[in-house]
Amino acid sequence: MEILTDLSSMQARCLDLRRQGKRIAFVPTMGYLHDGHLSLLQEGRQRGDILALSIFVNPTQFGPKEDLAAYPRDLKRDLDIARRAGVDLVWTPTPQDVYPEGYATYVDVEGLTDTLCGASRPGHFRGVTTVVCKLFNVVQADLALFGEKDFQQLAVIRRMTRDLNLPVEIVGMPIVREEDGLAMSSRNVYLSGEERRQALALSQGIALAQKRACEGEHSSRTLLAEVRSLIEAQPLARIDYLQICHALTLQEQEKVDADAVLLMAVFVGSTRLIDNSYLL
Ligand code: AMP
Repeated sequence: MEILTDLSSMQARCLDLRRQGKRIAFVPTMGYLHDGHLSLLQEGRQRGDILALSIFVNPTQFGPKEDLAAYPRDLKRDLDIARRAGVDLVWTPTPQDVYPEGYATYVDVEGLTDTLCGASRPGHFRGVTTVVCKLFNVVQADLALFGEKDFQQLAVIRRMTRDLNLPVEIVGMPIVREEDGLAMSSRNVYLSGEERRQALALSQGIALAQKRACEGEHSSRTLLAEVRSLIEAQPLARIDYLQICHALTLQEQEKVDADAVLLMAVFVGSTRLIDNSYLL
């Protein structure tokens, strides 16, 4: 496994591989890898000749009061996981390399970023799309893999890729969960034992809504009220948003159908967790 930090070395290496006719599969991450990331790497391993992984805690997608400094990091462990997953190329850029002095260019996807996490975290998606676009330009991947855990992020990246004619295929991958249902996240390490227990309300809320929708309850208002009271029964949980939206437009839907996705962000203690699922 080759480990590169320098941006221009990574770009030159990837260009060289492309010239050799290699198909590059790319998994961008912020590190502190878990089985969710691993599922992306395994799929990328299947689909590409070369599997590239980036580990970069991107400062521009964090708000001033968010957890950039505290974000969990363990490069040695990440490299072990990457090696075992058959990664060929790891890129660990520095913020100075990605955003040099005088950096002034940003990518902004309109509309899709106005709601949900975009409403709660102003500027977040601008940071995400900017860095993903830059990573794509360096890695020149044939395909890039993203998790449905970050459902809105995936929709926004698909839109950016289409709108800017970026020559990369975007592959979405299902959410990987802990055995008890909690969606895997690097941020789960922030949770105390009691918070970890109460965090199950997110996946339990999803399970409840899916069950009720399958039984024939298709009113979003009714389903959201039921999920809300399940989550609010946990004293450490505070809902940031809870919505049923169309999977492509992310607009709120009054009636649940096959395109309806339940999306939520919930603070458990001071940790903000997100989760989502189709309902039918
Ligand atoms: P992150 O390191 O949190 O920025 O995530 C890097 C990539 O892994 C993103 O495409 C995420 O959507 C994806 N990812 C994170 N958690 C999960 C999960 N539990 N299941 C599937 N994909 C995930």
